[in-house]
Amino acid sequence: MKRPTSDKPGQMWGTIVFVFVLACSWAALAQTGAPPVTEPQAVGPGPGGGITVQVAYTISLKSAVNHIAHVAIRLRPLAPNRPYRVQLPVWNALYQVRDFAQYARAVAAHDDDGGAVPIRLVDKTTWEADIDSRTVTFEYDVVADNPGPFGAELNDRHAFFNLAEILMYPVDLRDGWMQVTFTDVPPAWKVATSLRQIRTNLLLARNYDELVDAPVELGTFQESVLAQRGAEYRVVVDADPSDYDMSAISRMAYKLAATEVEWMQDWPAGHYLFIYHFPRHPAGGGMEHADSTAIDAPAERVKANPLSLADVTAHEFFHLWNVKRIRPQSLEPVDYTKEQYTRALWFSEGVTSTVADFVRVRAGYLDEKGFLAELAADIRQLESRPARLTQSVEEASLDAWLEKYPAYELPERSISYYNKGEIVGLLLDLQMREVSGGKKSLRDLFHWMNEHYAKQGKFFPDSAGVREAAETVTGADFRDFFARYVSGVDAIPYDKFFATVGLRLQRQTITAADAGFRSVRHLGRPATVISVSPGSEAEKAGLRRGDTIQEVNGRVSEFLPETEISSIRVGDRVDLRIDGAGGQRHIKFKVGARPVENYILVEREDATATQRARRAAWMRGDSE
Ligand SMILES: [Zn+2]
Repeated sequence: MKRPTSDKPGQMWGTIVFVFVLACSWAALAQTGAPPVTEPQAVGPGPGGGITVQVAYTISLKSAVNHIAHVAIRLRPLAPNRPYRVQLPVWNALYQVRDFAQYARAVAAHDDDGGAVPIRLVDKTTWEADIDSRTVTFEYDVVADNPGPFGAELNDRHAFFNLAEILMYPVDLRDGWMQVTFTDVPPAWKVATSLRQIRTNLLLARNYDELVDAPVELGTFQESVLAQRGAEYRVVVDADPSDYDMSAISRMAYKLAATEVEWMQDWPAGHYLFIYHFPRHPAGGGMEHADSTAIDAPAERVKANPLSLADVTAHEFFHLWNVKRIRPQSLEPVDYTKEQYTRALWFSEGVTSTVADFVRVRAGYLDEKGFLAELAADIRQLESRPARLTQSVEEASLDAWLEKYPAYELPERSISYYNKGEIVGLLLDLQMREVSGGKKSLRDLFHWMNEHYAKQGKFFPDSAGVREAAETVTGADFRDFFARYVSGVDAIPYDKFFATVGLRLQRQTITAADAGFRSVRHLGRPATVISVSPGSEAEKAGLRRGDTIQEVNGRVSEFLPETEISSIRVGDRVDLRIDGAGGQRHIKFKVGARPVENYILVEREDATATQRARRAAWMRGDSE
C-alpha cells in the first residue's frame, strides 16, 4: 500500500504511509486445481457439477444515490444445533482497525419461506441466528461513502468496493466457494474485477479471503487491455476523460509490469487489473491485491504529468510478489477480528519501494540524478526524526496500528517503516554486492525467496527469513547488519555503504522556510495540526494543536500544509483556512526561517571505474 505525503519536496509519492495487507491464503492465490467453472446455483452444486457455492451474496445498488448498498447473504444449512454466525471484518486493506460494522444497519435474517429468524448481536461485529438445517438469509444495509483505494463508495456515478467493508463472512464457512451478484445496476455500467466473472454482474471466489482480495469497480470507466506473453493486463480508469491521457497511462502501466516480470523472471498471475481513480479533490494512495491494484491520484496532478503515477504503480505491482506471494508468516492466517501484528513491514513495504526505484530506472522513468536525489530526500526524512534512535524499523512495523493517532506520528515518537525500510533495502543490496564481489544482489534475494517460499506455498519467517535469504545467496554472515539496522537502532554509517559505489553523503545546513507547525493527514481528510513550535509566527498568529487546515493560500492541497509552505519564500505571507474549536477562521502570518540539515549524494574524488560500474548496476537492480 502507499499513500501520498508530503515530506519529500520533489517527490510526489512519499514516505510515511500505512499499510495494509489482505487476507489471502496461499490456497486462494494459487488458483490451481479448481474444478471447471460453470454457472453456479445460488446455493448448491452448479449445473456442471463442478463447484458447490456455499455462500451467495447479492448486492443491490438500488439506493446508490443515498450511498447505501443492500446486502443479502444466503447460507446453506449447517450441522444441526449450530447457530449461524456472521461477522464483518474490523480491519482490511489498511493496518488499521476501522470497525466496518459502524456502516451496517438494520441487520435481520429470514428463512426461505420469508419467515423472520431471530438474531442477536454477539459482539460489536458478530451476529448470530439460531436455525436448524434450513437455509437462512441475512440482510442489511451498508453505508458506502468512503472514497479511495481502501474504501467502499457507491453513488449515482460509479461504485468501488473493497468487499471486506460491506460483506459479512459466515464464521464457519469462510473457506467455501462464494458468489456475488450485483442487482439494480444501471444499464450503462460495466464491472471490472480480477475475480472470475461468470456474467457481467456475477462473480465467483474460492473463499472469503480471495473474494475480499479483489476490489470491484462498477461504472462507465474507460479501459485498455494488453495481452503480452501469455499474460493479460487490463487498465481501468474512472475519472473525467478530459483529465487524463488513457494511452500514456496504460503504456506506463504495461511497461512497468513488463519490467518487473523480467526483473523477477516470473509471472505468477494469468491476468492483472490496474484500477485508477482521478478525483478532482485531494486524493491519493494505492492498494495492492493478489491480481489487481487500486490507485487514486488527484486529477490536477495526473493531467499535468501522467508519469507521476509511475512510482505508486511500480510499487503496487511489485506487491504481486512481495507481500502477496512472498508473504510473511506473521500475516497468515488472516484474522479479521483484531490487529494482526508483524515485524516484517519494513521488508514487505519498504523494500517494495526499493525495488520500485530500480524498476523506474530500468523502465526509463527515473535517471541517476533523480534516483540519488530521492535517496538523499529519504535520508533527510529519516535523519530528521529523533525516534530513529529509539524505535527500530521492526518495531515501527509492529506499531503500524498506531498510525491513526496524531501523537504517534510525531518525529520524537516514530519512524516510518516505508522510509527506513526503503533505505535499508538499498543498503542491503550494496552489502550483498560488496560481500559477493559484485556477483549477488537484492534481485537474487527476491528470486531465492520466490523459489523457496512463494512457489512452495510457504510463508517466510519475517526478518529471519530475509536474513537467511541474504546469507544463502551470498554465503556471507548478515547477523550484524540485521542486528544494527533492522532490529536495532544504530546510526547508519552511510558513507561506509556508499563508498562501495564511489559516492559520499554531503551534509549541509541550509536556511529553509519554516511553517512553525507539524500536521498529519489520514485517508484523504484535511490535515490536523499535531504540534506548534513555541515562539513561531504560526503560534503568535493563533494556530493551535488540533486545528484542522482546510486550505493554504486559498488552495486545497494534496500534500501536508507545511510542505506547501516550505516552497513559499521566507518572509512571504501565508493564509490558512482553519477549522478549530472556535469554528472556521483564517490565520495569517509571515513564513519564518529555520536551519535544516540537507543531504546530497555526490561522487567521491577517488571513485574508481569499478565503483561507477557497480553504481550503475545497483540503481538498475542488475546483476554485475
Ligand atoms: Zn505497499
